[in-house]
Formats: sequence, C-alpha cells, structure tokens
Amino acid sequence: MMLSGRVPVKLDAPWCCESLPLRLRRGVRQAQRDAAFGGRARLENRFVVGRETAFQSGVTATALQDLSAVCSVHVKRNLLLLLAVLFFAAPIFAQSPFQFPTANHYLYQPGAELKFFAPTEPDKPWTSGSFGCVRDYGHRMHEGLDIRHLQTDRRGEPTDPVMATADGTVVYYNLRPSLSNYGNYLVIRHVIQGIEIYSLYAHLHAIQPGLKIGDSVKAGQVIATMGRTSNAETIAQWRAHVHFELNVLVNDNFASWWRQASPGERNDHGEWNGQNLNGLDVRRILLDEQKGNFNLLNFIRSQTELCRVLVRATDFPYLKRYPMLVLRNPVAEKEGVAGYEISLNFNGVAFALMPRAESEIKSRAKYQLLSVNEPEALANPCRRLVVRRGGHWELGNEGLRELELLTWR
Ligand SMILES: [Zn+2]
Repeated sequence: MMLSGRVPVKLDAPWCCESLPLRLRRGVRQAQRDAAFGGRARLENRFVVGRETAFQSGVTATALQDLSAVCSVHVKRNLLLLLAVLFFAAPIFAQSPFQFPTANHYLYQPGAELKFFAPTEPDKPWTSGSFGCVRDYGHRMHEGLDIRHLQTDRRGEPTDPVMATADGTVVYYNLRPSLSNYGNYLVIRHVIQGIEIYSLYAHLHAIQPGLKIGDSVKAGQVIATMGRTSNAETIAQWRAHVHFELNVLVNDNFASWWRQASPGERNDHGEWNGQNLNGLDVRRILLDEQKGNFNLLNFIRSQTELCRVLVRATDFPYLKRYPMLVLRNPVAEKEGVAGYEISLNFNGVAFALMPRAESEIKSRAKYQLLSVNEPEALANPCRRLVVRRGGHWELGNEGLRELELLTWR
C-alpha cells in the first residue's frame, strides 16, 4: 500500500510511521500510547494535533487519512494485545503474591512430586519433604518445604540461585551454620495485602554478596545460593535443597520471653529464632495460587481449628501486628476487653481472636481450653499443643508455651 504525499511512510514498521517527520512521529506515538491508556477521545485529539503538524510538514490530507487508518489498525492491535496481557496477568498480580524461591517448579507438574520435594531418605515418600506432621511417622513437625536442587557444580554441590518469594525487606541472616539447624539462613519481611509475612530460606551455601539487613528486595531477586549447611543433620548431596518457609511472627519481644522461659539456654538469633516464626502450609499456598483463587487473608482465616482457648491477656503485640485477624464483639466493645478467645491451628498459628468482656469469661484461669477439634487433633498431633489425659483434652506443655509466647509483653 502506498500513501500519496511527499513523506514516505513505512507501513511494515512495528510502530507505523517510522519515516515521518519527528514532530508528527511523536504525535502519532503519543496517540498510540494514549489509545492504550487514555481511551479514544484522547486518541482522536492527538490525531488532530498530528494532522496539523503534518500539514506544517507538508503531508497531504489523503496521506493523513491513510495514515490514520493504518495507525488505528496498529493501535487497535496493540490495545488488544495490552488488554490480553493485563487480563491474563491480573490474576497473577492479584492472586499469586508468592513465587517459587528457586527455578524448581515441578510442584505444578502432576506426578512429579519427587522432582520437587527432597525426601529425608531415598526410600521415604516425597511427603517427608513437605509441610506438616511429616517426620518421624507423623510425630514431628516440618515447618517448610524442602525444595530439591536442579543444578550442581563439578563436585556435585548445589548451585541453584535462591530468590525472594515476594517484594520485601531483609530482616535477618545467620552466617554461622553451627548456631542453627537451619544452617545459614535468611529471613525477609513482606507485607502482602496488608499482612506481615516472613519468608525463611535455610541450609544456604552463601547469601548474595553485598546483601545487607535492611535492604529492599524484589520478588525473584537472587538473594542466596543453595547449600547444605546445618548444625543438626548432614544433608547428603543427593538431597540438597532449600528449606523454604512462610511464617507469621508471634512476638517481637521473643528474646526477653526466651530469657525467662528457657533460662541458661542460648538464643543466638534474637526475634528471628525459628520458634518465633509459625509456619503456614506453603505447599497449599503455592497450589492455591496455581488454581488462581488465592487470597492470603482468606487463607489464614480459613485454617482448620485445632482448639479454642481463652487467654486473660489484652495487650500483646500480635493483636497490633495482625489486627485483621481480630474479630468484633459488641459486648466487649461496650464493657471493655478482659481477654481473648483464640483459635489456633495445629501448628499454633492464631488465626482468629475474639475479644471477650469480663461478664463473658467464666474462669479465673490465665489460659482456659474451651474446645478441641478432635479429628484435627488426631490427624495432626505432632505439635502436641493439646493432649488427651484421663479421657479428656487439656493444654499440653507445648500449648502452654505457645500461649505464653503469644501473650508475652
Ligand atoms: Zn526442611
């Protein structure tokens, strides 16, 4: 197709009008951008400006009409492409706040679990590398995912880059592997949909040179190299993995709680001790994201309740950190809050906190077990927050410890 006029126009250029005078070209390009972002009115406006510019540059009216038609086609194509990208990308931005921390995405390939998870032994099922009561025949908790390596160096050592799961801030790293069963590990604070979540990456070989506490990181940014460090177990080369957790933070006064709860015992990691980070089911989160229906607040709120407890405490840090988990109670709002009725999941995550007035509380006890979801207690017993004694359920030592940490101030 040829345009009449004194200015030749290349019609096959990705952005039409490549050889037009500069001012007109700018006008048309701006029109294309406006078409994508500002709608048709601004587009037409721009063509009027462009037409005037064109006349000044010696382009004929016929050429401009043809040019408008050609550019409109390009604009429409680009607009459709942009809309298509936004349409398909929107769920990813809105509903997939967490990315895989390595290039290993085999979780999404049906039947490829053994390519994704590193089991504890070659003959153990993949579930031993997953989240939950999966260790020691269901009696020991594993709070993260052990994600297998994909690449090694000549000596067989893992070299997979480890990446931030979401935008966030580096809050801690430990580079003295002898001080933790996590070995070298790194913690990043994220705020997802207004909710503070802490990702943890363990058994690292090294963290990215130059990365410091307080640094902002972007989702997908390389933060470390996978390794096999730990003070508790020897991780064989074949099962080299990153141990990956997504957690809620229980108490920012953890260090002072630890001093009185575990006198004489070392705490080398301040608030960033694993006991202060209660893990969420990362496998479930990543699978829900794949389905495209993930919402973090709904996910936390819809945890299966292990038990409900009443605590006579009113001003502990968790309430301020996770106000979206605090429910409304008009009686307590009117009479004043004397305690909280708290729903815990099997891993001790407090996912619903109902304020209670003095008139609603029957017992003087500091911690009162109100109810136990028995099927859940039997299905996921490994944290032993509640225990069955003499035919009835009561708070176990681990449950009391969890509540003391939660309400410590
Ligand atoms: Zn692990």
